Amino acid sequence: MLETLLRKCLKGNQISFGEVEYLLSRTEESETNQIFAAARQARQAAFGNKVFLYGFVYFSTFCQNSCTFCYYRKENANPHRYRKTLREVVAIAEELQKSGVHLIDLTTGDDPFYTKHPERLASIVKAVKEKTGLTVMVSPGLLDRRGLELIQLAGADWFALYQETHRKALFTQLRQGQSYEKRMLAKRYAQDLGMLLEEGLLTGVGDTLQDRVHSFSEMRQLGAAQIRTMTFIQQEGAPLKGTVNPEYHSELMNIAVMRLLFPDELIPASLDVEGLAGLEKRLMAGANVVTSIIPPEQGFSGVANCKHDIDEGYRTVAGIQNTLKRCHLENADTQDYNRWVADRRNADKANVRTGCR
Ligand code: SF4
Repeated sequence: MLETLLRKCLKGNQISFGEVEYLLSRTEESETNQIFAAARQARQAAFGNKVFLYGFVYFSTFCQNSCTFCYYRKENANPHRYRKTLREVVAIAEELQKSGVHLIDLTTGDDPFYTKHPERLASIVKAVKEKTGLTVMVSPGLLDRRGLELIQLAGADWFALYQETHRKALFTQLRQGQSYEKRMLAKRYAQDLGMLLEEGLLTGVGDTLQDRVHSFSEMRQLGAAQIRTMTFIQQEGAPLKGTVNPEYHSELMNIAVMRLLFPDELIPASLDVEGLAGLEKRLMAGANVVTSIIPPEQGFSGVANCKHDIDEGYRTVAGIQNTLKRCHLENADTQDYNRWVADRRNADKANVRTGCR
């Protein structure tokens, strides 16, 4: 059954919910290896041996929310809270650009300093865009319509806002006090404005196989151009305990199955979960973007693993090259990435016009 199913996926045929669940539930190494190999074949057909590289600039660690899985929830006294100046953000973005990343991901907690005054956020987006000339992703938490309009006018190409689960009951446990619908509406409005969308799915948070299948279906409906999955890492000072997930198995299976279901979408391998040590297995599962590249010794944090491998310089473009070689992959050119983004934005615009999204 497995070979038939993988052939079906590689030919571009849709598979049923039950078949997706069957793929996700494989645990035998011989079977998971076949799934990972098929995922790599799908990636090769869509992107060749090129991967895209994203620089991560977490410029405010203040947050007004209480997500139970997050180190930066407002109740937690442990995190170092900082808000970098525009000048500091631009300087780090320029350093990332020189190092060879294709995109700058400007991320904050849900910080009212920016969400209530989105013109501040927009001026950072504009400055980073002008100084680096790179594609810019903005991950600022929930923005209202005006905020989304301002960042789009300032040059934001991507808007990232993770649901983490598409089961409302689980969402309520994870993102306490937040509205499922408001987040979905913000994402749809960002797409209407012409920004590309990144959606996120967290695993190891009490999610079932069926929940993960359901999320893939919701992601398809949403039309997110980048879909990321990460494993929950237990955080000091955060209440969620999570579930046992040996060897990050669920995350790797999510990556591989998402690649088979969405061969043309961008799927990140995040350095934020296990650092450099976990990059190879995520790329071998079919990911085609390396995210959370952070310059060392500049006082910028990651999210799930806020310090891991950063000051050692392992989360840099130079630091990942040996891993890429082992996976027979190489950095894409900036032009390749820009072309992919432009093509995808044009396709999304056409879909918005025809109501096909
Ligand atoms: S996940 Fe984001 S919104 Fe939630 S507490 Fe953490 S930083 Fe805040």
